[in-house]
Amino acid sequence: MIGLISATAAGATARDRLAAAWPDRTRVYEGPVGDAVRAAFAECEQLVCFLATGAVVRLIAPLLGDKRTDPGVVCVDEGGRFAVSLVGGHGGGANELAVEVGELLAAQPVVTTATDAVGVPGLDTLEFPVEGDVAGVSRALLDGEPVALDAELAWPLPPLRVSGTGGAYVIRVTDRAVEPAEREVVLRPPSLVIGVGASKGAPVDEVLGLVEGAVRDAGLSLASLAELATVDAKSDEPGIVEAAQRLGVPLVTYSAEELAAVEVPNPSEAPLAAVGTPSVAEAAALVGGGELLVPKRKSERADGQPAMATCAVVRRVARGRLAVVGLGPGARDLLTPRAKAELRRAAVLVGLDQYVDQIRDLLRPGTLILESGLGAEEERARTAVTEARKGQAVALIGSGDAGVYAMASPALAEASDDIDVVGVPGVTAALAAAAILGAPLGHDHVSISLSDLHTPWEVIERRVRAAAEADIVVTFYNPRSRGRDWQLPKALAILAEHRESTTPVGVVRNASRPDESSRLTTLAALDPATVDMMTVVTVGNTATRDIAGRMVTPRGYRWQEVAE
Ligand code: SAH
Repeated sequence: MIGLISATAAGATARDRLAAAWPDRTRVYEGPVGDAVRAAFAECEQLVCFLATGAVVRLIAPLLGDKRTDPGVVCVDEGGRFAVSLVGGHGGGANELAVEVGELLAAQPVVTTATDAVGVPGLDTLEFPVEGDVAGVSRALLDGEPVALDAELAWPLPPLRVSGTGGAYVIRVTDRAVEPAEREVVLRPPSLVIGVGASKGAPVDEVLGLVEGAVRDAGLSLASLAELATVDAKSDEPGIVEAAQRLGVPLVTYSAEELAAVEVPNPSEAPLAAVGTPSVAEAAALVGGGELLVPKRKSERADGQPAMATCAVVRRVARGRLAVVGLGPGARDLLTPRAKAELRRAAVLVGLDQYVDQIRDLLRPGTLILESGLGAEEERARTAVTEARKGQAVALIGSGDAGVYAMASPALAEASDDIDVVGVPGVTAALAAAAILGAPLGHDHVSISLSDLHTPWEVIERRVRAAAEADIVVTFYNPRSRGRDWQLPKALAILAEHRESTTPVGVVRNASRPDESSRLTTLAALDPATVDMMTVVTVGNTATRDIAGRMVTPRGYRWQEVAE
């Protein structure tokens, strides 16, 4: 819960906006400010105080305990111009909260935690548990001191700006039960899956004792536990459900058929009769593949009664992560927040050099950049997939949308299901251009690339003709280059067979880039010489009009009648 405290009318207005936007996340504390802050500090995970930082510092100073457990506190000034992360930047989530509050109130987030300020991810903000000398290693990373990465498990991590091997400080990546040494942190990736089976009514303590014992005896760490897994029929078994809850991991269930299909070392008759699969614990742990570290074992009961639970422990294979990220047409504010987050999440960035330049300043220090020149698409695609297969977090970038005449298809054609793929859509050139021209895409529309480098001209021509006959608005990508100058006139001539010579045509060059330009002309008047590879050309349908210099395609006459 986020506690909201304000003292003035302006503060209360901003406070109410937050409360209205996040009804389930916030609680308003009224009454004298001192009492309100103290109550919220005791009851909430986070506070947003619409008060001066000085006042808040004085009020919370006597309450501060440990940065791992104290609430995160954000202050918003009277003018609503700044959202200041005051304490608990990482542990209390105040840095992220400041950014969120800033977005909502159009206030500038103010974050002073060093790691966030310079772009090295805070070790305690990675999505998995971290143990050891977090402060020391973070400081070493920041100061550029040598920090070695000792990764027993290849896991897709963001770039940590480490210096290879050797060095006084160490980041260790392991799921084994090791105590961090001095000047060392241990990162715990979610690599372990524990399959559990239980007979009806198995007590939670028996299930939990079994799981914890198996992990301990195998020299593993519960901090790396990703999930408990079992058969569908046991999805409501209280002992299993509560064990997962207490361990703080999800319970994943599979059908008996799925489990029966998994090959296991220790099948048996009992579960086959009870739930229809010869193995629950081992099979559920192994469904996603991986290495069986602890074969099926049974719980021990003090009273000598038969065991009621079984478990098996598997280390799943690290899966690389390939994010295919559209950067939008050029302008920074048309790059989506999600795209930005993926760029900062990646340790390896693959892309065309000119696109890399577009976002280089957003990358975290230490990101490995694999850039290449025009052409070489397939090689770029292969590089991205190869890096992801090594277990890396990779971002493959493209301008506009990375799936539109771009890298997503060659990359996914190379990829198999051994990596995770995340697509981030981007504003494609046709949409960026349409917004500049007016509303040319108000009815059915297609995009056609006029590049016949990889597509035979006959195929392109057939599609242009189909669009012409069907009276569809057409946006031409790759319309003309120095070596390809006859395709655009030819395509326009085909459209002109079915549309008036006065049909509006929009030409947009470098949409949303510094030297953006656009023109509204007609089929007859368009001079192809004004078109190049930085341009898209949008040809209206028979209903498209030039209205006050804007290109407008009606949504359909009937719709308009109804609307009026
Ligand atoms: N993936 C890109 C398209 C790649 S094909 C996207 O979704 O936008 C390359 C063609 O896209 C160029 O020849 C040009 O026709 C068009 N294009 C890309 N960005 C553009 C921009 N900012 N302004 C105008 N046209 C653009």
